[in-house]
Amino acid sequence: MKFQAIKGVRDILPPESALWNRVEQTAREVFRTFGFSEIRIPDAEHTELFTRSVGEGTDIVSKEMFSFQDHEYPDLDRFRGTLIFHQPTIEDRMQFDLYKAQVSGFVNELSKHVSKRELPSTPESLRAITEIPTLLAQLENMREQYRETASEQTRVRFELYAGHVRDRLRAAQLGDNLSLRPEGTASVVRAYIEHGMHVLPGNVKLYYMGPMFRRERPQRGRYRQFYQIGAEVLGTSDAPGIDAEVIGMLMTLFEQLKLKGAVLSINSIGDSKCRPVYLEKLRAALVKIRDQPEPQMGHDSLSRIETNPLRVLDSKLESEQAIIEKLPRIGDHLCADCRGHYDEVKRQLTLRGIAYQENWRLVRGLDYYMRTTFEITAPGLGSQNAVCGGGRYDGLVELLGGPAATKGIGFAIGTDRLVLSLQEAGEGTVQEGLDVYLAWFGAAAQAAAIGLAKRLREAGFVVELPAIEIKFGKSLGLADRLKARHAVILGDDELAAKVVTVKRLADGSQKKLAEPELLAYLSAETGKG
Ligand code: ATP
Ligand code: MG
Repeated sequence: MKFQAIKGVRDILPPESALWNRVEQTAREVFRTFGFSEIRIPDAEHTELFTRSVGEGTDIVSKEMFSFQDHEYPDLDRFRGTLIFHQPTIEDRMQFDLYKAQVSGFVNELSKHVSKRELPSTPESLRAITEIPTLLAQLENMREQYRETASEQTRVRFELYAGHVRDRLRAAQLGDNLSLRPEGTASVVRAYIEHGMHVLPGNVKLYYMGPMFRRERPQRGRYRQFYQIGAEVLGTSDAPGIDAEVIGMLMTLFEQLKLKGAVLSINSIGDSKCRPVYLEKLRAALVKIRDQPEPQMGHDSLSRIETNPLRVLDSKLESEQAIIEKLPRIGDHLCADCRGHYDEVKRQLTLRGIAYQENWRLVRGLDYYMRTTFEITAPGLGSQNAVCGGGRYDGLVELLGGPAATKGIGFAIGTDRLVLSLQEAGEGTVQEGLDVYLAWFGAAAQAAAIGLAKRLREAGFVVELPAIEIKFGKSLGLADRLKARHAVILGDDELAAKVVTVKRLADGSQKKLAEPELLAYLSAETGKG
């Protein structure tokens, strides 16, 4: 068997990984200058955190999450397996007594763990705890009855009730429902609440980076394990200047990375006052279209009319574009507060010299967004051209059980796509070659070479020190193939003269230098040291 990486995930190899490091390093530096600190969030959370915050109506929650049931007590789980496998028989008293005792034992264990909150108290588990004892008593009665009457009917009922016990056992949940994180905001907000960060002065400004997981159809720029660099601002203020500052930080990052052709689109999608009114208008318009003899809308959009009508605006289907252009627009339905907020965001962007496009169809796929939404597209990515999405989510902290009136705004950059775009634009090469290939010949030279390599590395040079002695010609050939800039040669002659021979591999020029001169020479050649 040959192992391969699973579907939709990939290895990031050198030299590409050097570009990833540059992107992440630059983000850290830029974010630091805006007063953001890093938060490291876990890769998995309770599934409910995501269903609550991201929303049931989204693609992410309805079909893209990698979810699993944890097994907190593997022994209990195995025990349950044998109970389900060994069903009681009505004729065999001893077997039944043993079965009954074991099932009761299982239910006691389950009940103990649930009451100590070591296992989730799902409706299914609670049903197992309350109903199984009754069912067992009923089975016992039937067994007694059968002993006297041998009635076939009683036997059939016995089998049926034993089946009920089996079903209750099976449904009991012996671990939490967990999911690999499909996005980062929910975790950041969970952490903000869990650690009482609302008492910190000013706005809490956090950034994170790392893998996210969504079960999507893999294609260029769309993976099942992909990476995001995200940032969030949480606090009591929703001043439009915060929105502009966050967007300004993004644009600064893209500028520093020399990402050309990035386009910022913005929109406001209203708040809990004005959006519901708009949504009803939108839904009504969509229902009208749906009920026409030939609706001209695809299956996805039709099903979203009920679940998430805003997402219809997201549709990229050619056949739906003309219809969407005629739909009611949120911009015509914003309340005075939202309108004022949106106008001020635009003014604040202009104050910062940030160019933007307005796009009334820009809605975020996640339920918790409100007011400002934005997206940045970059060239070279085909239809997967969004490198960053973000927006305001003022209700989320309260929704997840935190202090009401906490506001939030954030974004997530798709690192995979950002890297792809940089590569397409020819900004993808990061030089990380060898400065020195240190060829040594003889045991005494090896000892000296080990010391020299240590000092060269301390000075910041990238040094390859062969682990075994390699013949001269072969050694220099290898230095060439490794694309080293210099070969430093150390043999008995050099040792005796207290020098090394340094050879510039590009043109073959060489000289003999003592160590201090060697360091100075390499510094001048490489700009390091
Ligand atoms: P899209 O419309 O492209 O599916 P999205 O609305 O699902 O994007 P968000 O949840 O806002 O994306 O995530 C922010 C960014 O993360 C996106 O702009 C994109 O760059 C990146 N991203 C999202 N899903 C993937 C994926 N499966 N593979 C690679 N990058 C992704
Ligand atoms: Mg998506």
